[in-house]
Amino acid sequence: MNPDDKPPLPGDPPSGQGEERSRPGVFLGTLRGIRFYLDYSWFFIAALVIYSLATYFFPHELPGRDAAVYIAMGTVATLLFFLSILLHEMGHSVVSQRNGIPVPSITLLFIGGIAEISREPDDPRTELKIAVAGPLVSIFLSALYALIAWGCSLASFPEGGLVFQWLASVNLFLVIFNAIPGYPLDGGRILRALLWMRSGGFRQATFITSRIGVFFSWALIALGIFAIMGGEWGQGLVFLVIGVFLKSAAESGYTQALSKEILDGVRACDLMTQPAICIPADLPLNLAVDDYFLTNHHVAYPVVSDEGHFRGLLRLEHLKSVPREKWPYTTAGAVAEAQDSRLVIPATSSAENALRILLVAGQGRLGVVDEAGQLVGILTRHDLLHYLQIHTELET
Ligand SMILES: [Zn+2]
Repeated sequence: MNPDDKPPLPGDPPSGQGEERSRPGVFLGTLRGIRFYLDYSWFFIAALVIYSLATYFFPHELPGRDAAVYIAMGTVATLLFFLSILLHEMGHSVVSQRNGIPVPSITLLFIGGIAEISREPDDPRTELKIAVAGPLVSIFLSALYALIAWGCSLASFPEGGLVFQWLASVNLFLVIFNAIPGYPLDGGRILRALLWMRSGGFRQATFITSRIGVFFSWALIALGIFAIMGGEWGQGLVFLVIGVFLKSAAESGYTQALSKEILDGVRACDLMTQPAICIPADLPLNLAVDDYFLTNHHVAYPVVSDEGHFRGLLRLEHLKSVPREKWPYTTAGAVAEAQDSRLVIPATSSAENALRILLVAGQGRLGVVDEAGQLVGILTRHDLLHYLQIHTELET
């Protein structure tokens, strides 16, 4: 399904970015440098699918077998379907990597995956190539499974034939489902690339395709509700889960495209503020509390050495990690340095990158430094979001 649509995660920040993940999931392993996770919802949907295959579809198509045979067939079919999804996502990712866009991780859902991409493609052609690669893999797999099903029937192995016939048709269904031109489905990404190519407007192309995506999600949700009311609760739940997921992905896709465009060409130093108050690195914590935290209103202060080198941010919550009796013997610099070093960026770094780091780290502010490591400013999440908000309102 949707290859590269999800969260605005780290672009070209210092290595180690992107370790934080908001989506829950089981870590499966690393392939071609991509960390694979399995979303928890997978287990729920997989169980539903195995259940409906083993109790309804297979007994209906091939009567007279033991329940254990149907369960085995359902399990094999579901696991091979999982493999098909994995290969579909690998199709997108390999093309993405070949075009210089790294894919740090992929979270697999039942009918697709969410790739954490480092950035959006720079041009529509790259987007088109990445979007087409997944469905091509699925078409190939569908043909391959059909061939195996045919082989099974020649070898008088109807159980295998039925499993592969099912796999061939669900992979084909996946291609058709993905052809719907709503972002973030593959069809939506293909349409976005084509619109983008024609008009040159990335944001407008994303806006149109994400609207189609939202509309389609509502249709799926409605279908799910109707199915549940009609007693088809298994199928209905699957539609509901997919619809809700697609809707949020389609909506966040547009927000991302908007902020990408607004922040295009804006650097960290353009939006930062001069640090009014800095704490000297060799100041003991008890004095830092008295002279800074209790006298001013801020919850965090940049800590700088005598030479003006940025040593990190000292936050209110850091103080709690040091026992009170040790405050006179602990310097502000020592505490600040022990904290997350990623909360600092070069002044020339893009504002988009700064926003990603802040969102991923769940922090409110970043230290901005020049090439020599001197603190030149502080960039807060509030400043960035305020800038985005003003520009969004001016442009719409
Ligand atoms: Zn796809």
